[in-house]
Amino acid sequence: MQIKSVSFIKSSPNVGQCPESKFPEYAFVGRSNVGKSSLINSLTNKKKLALISGSPGKTRLINHFLVNDGWYLVDLPGYGYAKLSKAEKSKFDAMIKNYLLERENLACLFLLIDIRHDPIDTDLEFIQWLGTNGVPFVFIFTKADKVGTIDAEKTIESYKTKLSESWESLPLIFKTSAHKRTGNDDILKFIADTNKLLKSK
Ligand code: GDP
Repeated sequence: MQIKSVSFIKSSPNVGQCPESKFPEYAFVGRSNVGKSSLINSLTNKKKLALISGSPGKTRLINHFLVNDGWYLVDLPGYGYAKLSKAEKSKFDAMIKNYLLERENLACLFLLIDIRHDPIDTDLEFIQWLGTNGVPFVFIFTKADKVGTIDAEKTIESYKTKLSESWESLPLIFKTSAHKRTGNDDILKFIADTNKLLKSK
């Protein structure tokens, strides 16, 4: 899929205020510093797109972009922010979870994980919650250029092993490098295929 147009639609404080759900939607989430802004910029070929959602006041909002007049790209706030107080963190995580549970046009969530990091409890608990609640999601391992192929596979395998303890089938896995601009085509193809599938339903 070629990206022909991307426009910022709005930032919403909760799922109830998101734009009308008339397009399939793909949301990006991950811990802060995972490389989410870089990946969104690289995917859409817009150097400063994610700056909009990263600007002061917007990092805790649900940010909608319309791509090719046919699907929404959603930049979600990071979950499990280490810097927030416990109360703030749970309020914030609840907002993301409400969005994931209630947004009817959510086609898929992209869960970003830094390929250098082995699974930690915050990620595993969130993954468990996604599975239990039937949220459609796939993995994107980011910053693939930072490790060699063997180390990359090691991290991916350790996730697979952990997840196999609870799940019979595992979600799709993508690997990207925003710096080298690799992996984008696979993700865009996945989105195009899913859009087609949804249209034929
Ligand atoms: P965000 O907080 O998840 O939006 O993360 P950013 O996109 O701001 O990236 C956090 C840091 O990781 C920055 O210093 C980026 O330059 C770096 N980074 C992001 N993506 C990549 C990548 O694919 N490769 C490498 N080597 N560094 C990356």
